Amino acid sequence: MPHGIDPDQLDKLAEITVRTGLNLQSGQELVVFAPAEALPLIRRVAVHAYKAGANAVVPFFTDDEMTLARFLHAPSESFDHASEWYYEGIAKALENGAARLSILGNDPMLLAHQDPDCAARLSKAVSRAAKPATKPIANFDVNWCVTAFPGAAWASQVFPSEAPEKAQKMLMDMIFNASRLEGPDPVANWDAHSRNLKTRIDWLNTCRFSELRYRGPGTDLTIGLPDGHVWKGGRSLAGNGVAFQPNIPTEEVFTCPHADRVSGLVSGTKPLSYQGQLIDGIKVRFEAGKAVSAHAAKGQDALRELLETDEGACRIGEVALVPDSSPISRSGVLFYNTLFDENASCHLAFGQSYSSTIEAGSGLPLSTLRERGCNQSMIHVDWMIGSAQLDIDGVSKTGEIVHVMRKGEWAVSLD
Ligand code: ZN
Ligand code: ZN
Repeated sequence: MPHGIDPDQLDKLAEITVRTGLNLQSGQELVVFAPAEALPLIRRVAVHAYKAGANAVVPFFTDDEMTLARFLHAPSESFDHASEWYYEGIAKALENGAARLSILGNDPMLLAHQDPDCAARLSKAVSRAAKPATKPIANFDVNWCVTAFPGAAWASQVFPSEAPEKAQKMLMDMIFNASRLEGPDPVANWDAHSRNLKTRIDWLNTCRFSELRYRGPGTDLTIGLPDGHVWKGGRSLAGNGVAFQPNIPTEEVFTCPHADRVSGLVSGTKPLSYQGQLIDGIKVRFEAGKAVSAHAAKGQDALRELLETDEGACRIGEVALVPDSSPISRSGVLFYNTLFDENASCHLAFGQSYSSTIEAGSGLPLSTLRERGCNQSMIHVDWMIGSAQLDIDGVSKTGEIVHVMRKGEWAVSLD
């Protein structure tokens, strides 16, 4: 056990991940992706998975030092190579009904001093090869979950002035609180949280807004929503009939923006960690859905690489709302990790949209999805634009205006 991490907290995180996150079914196989240092959490996951009736728990590990070794010593061709056979195997497991768990915890700044061009090439090669394995996840064919382990390098990035052990303990505390594990019955906490998210989603789906208007410091933005857009969040139903929570933690409700109907100026409110690099002070101007100018006070090159990845990378594929009072936002901590930072703030995502956020979208050909306004890209990168100064209005088809958020909080109480 790494020093500083409370084994009881780890066990509760493993239990909620298996029972509420994955909702692992008896007889189901579980495939786990994790950093090698997350082994103490994976072992507890295995215990709860077998208690739930798993027929096998199969782990796959990554390791920061080995990733770095590639950047330091591998031949140039290595950055255009990804092991297709490996992703085909994963795809086969999912096709056969396995559930998938991803545990995050790597060093968010691992590649900060490496060639961004190599990082971009490798990420492209992996995205392409991994398609058969990521498609069933993006389509929600099976139950899956993403959660986090407080890796040592990550913890020291979040709490740089603390000793390593203390930093890991503090990050574990943050993960524990953000994942709503406090009190005697975490499963009940999650049931209540899911109900609240569902009430908000139902309200947004009844509103059927044709666009959202954002106003805040450095932001004056209109986002068109396609006909038949669907708000989602919290609990989802997988194609295999299992109700699951894709993210632990989660605070967002989100839908599909229209890839050609975004216009105006928007300013980022938190730094974005992308491929081991930090992009901060982002200002983007959109015209007819496309980012026509984009500036970052820090990490301008990385931002440009990101937006030039492919044709859809400079358009948005997700619009998500998170109240400023969410537990992660209240913590005031920057996690350098999207699973947490996106749940602290209203955000947009450059790139790929989710086919489940448009009516009857799952399984439609990509060209039809694009015609309906759903952006297509190899990337999906969330960036935070929310703050306690952000106001959002919803505009109906007939031009009626409804207050959605005022000063970063829901304007309409649904309790
Ligand atoms: Zn999101
Ligand atoms: Zn996203």
